[in-house]
Amino acid sequence: MKPEKFATNLLQFLNDSPTAFHAVKNAAAILKENGFQELKETESWALEKEGRYFIVKNSSAVIAFTVGKGDLAKEGFRIIGAHTDSPALKIKPGACTVTPDGYVKVNVEVYGGAILQTWFDRPLALAGRLVVKENGTLREKLVQINKPVFMIPNLCIHFNRDMNEKGSCNKQTEILPLFCMKEENVDKEDYLYALIQEETGVEKTDIVDYELFLYEYQKGIFTGKKQEFISASRIDDLSMAYAGLAALTKAQTGADCQVLAAFDNEEVGSTTAQGANSGLLLHILNRICKNLGMTDEGYFQAVANSTSISADLAHAVHPNYSDKHDAESRPVLGGGPVIKYSASQRYATTALSAAYFVEACERAGVPYQKFVNRNDIAGGSTIGPALSGLTTIPTVDMGAPILAMHSIREFGAVADMEYTRQAFLAYYEGGRL
Ligand code: ZN
Repeated sequence: MKPEKFATNLLQFLNDSPTAFHAVKNAAAILKENGFQELKETESWALEKEGRYFIVKNSSAVIAFTVGKGDLAKEGFRIIGAHTDSPALKIKPGACTVTPDGYVKVNVEVYGGAILQTWFDRPLALAGRLVVKENGTLREKLVQINKPVFMIPNLCIHFNRDMNEKGSCNKQTEILPLFCMKEENVDKEDYLYALIQEETGVEKTDIVDYELFLYEYQKGIFTGKKQEFISASRIDDLSMAYAGLAALTKAQTGADCQVLAAFDNEEVGSTTAQGANSGLLLHILNRICKNLGMTDEGYFQAVANSTSISADLAHAVHPNYSDKHDAESRPVLGGGPVIKYSASQRYATTALSAAYFVEACERAGVPYQKFVNRNDIAGGSTIGPALSGLTTIPTVDMGAPILAMHSIREFGAVADMEYTRQAFLAYYEGGRL
């Protein structure tokens, strides 16, 4: 596939997926189009060799898999893990607040490690899920109010002369977006509910609860002299989830079992029912084995014969902050996916797990790079340590290099997205090493 073609599809996916809920809904549609059958955790399964299946957890995580042709105990699982969530502003219970001056602000809390300054002075829209009561039963309803309804205006520089030097903001008092001006006889809760009713037809009295996030209204775009870069929201980590999805749906069925696990809640530590630091993936792996008639002995063998990739984005050297990288570890945009190392195991990579990813890159004819933090910078972490710790499956941490990680708009290279897709395809099709 041409890099531009894949990146165009990716950009569409990013633009269409303002929250983890929407990303999973869109991923499920792609899986179904490609012959994957949805299974429910609550129902009994009847898996078949070469069958393609997926389950959705909490509407915000998805695990898809293709049962291989071979002996699963001997061949094991080839797993790619990624995450569906991104830093954002989340609406609190008690959605609105009215100031004495008559401004109606929406009351938000910060989800994950967002760069808050990037949320100022840009139109924000609203998406998430409602839990509604319909005919006496509870039902989830995804909502997307794709309109610029909120804005966090900056304080003018005349009142804040050192803002370019200071650069910080108070999370409680300075980031509440302006929604509208006070209206007569409107209860403060009702401003938001009125908008929801206008846009979705759902009435306040039917809404039991909600999980609603703000997102950037402006779409992602290509940029650069040759349009070789991508500037978009949620590249971390929907781009890796999407590359995994593209690879899984196109991969030839092998002897082993190919798995894509896109978890929620990585940005807040992964310890949730739908996060990587849970029993979710292990339950599914176990269930696949048992459903295919394998014993415990076979299951443990299958796990021991497995490998996994923790696919999350990597830090490219920044053109204006080049000293933030180790002198000998300098991945750049366009240079291919990056293998991430950490002696303290904040990345799960070992020499062995790195080697099977290198092997996949070489088979795909894709360049790759390596990253390790400076000793005086702690850096981030990923689902890798939880994934490898819980499953005991050797795991490599890798990801396409980007800039502006956790900004409302992140910045990557078109070429790296396609390189990553190709490396994932080669990994799935390579089988057990
Ligand atoms: Zn991430």
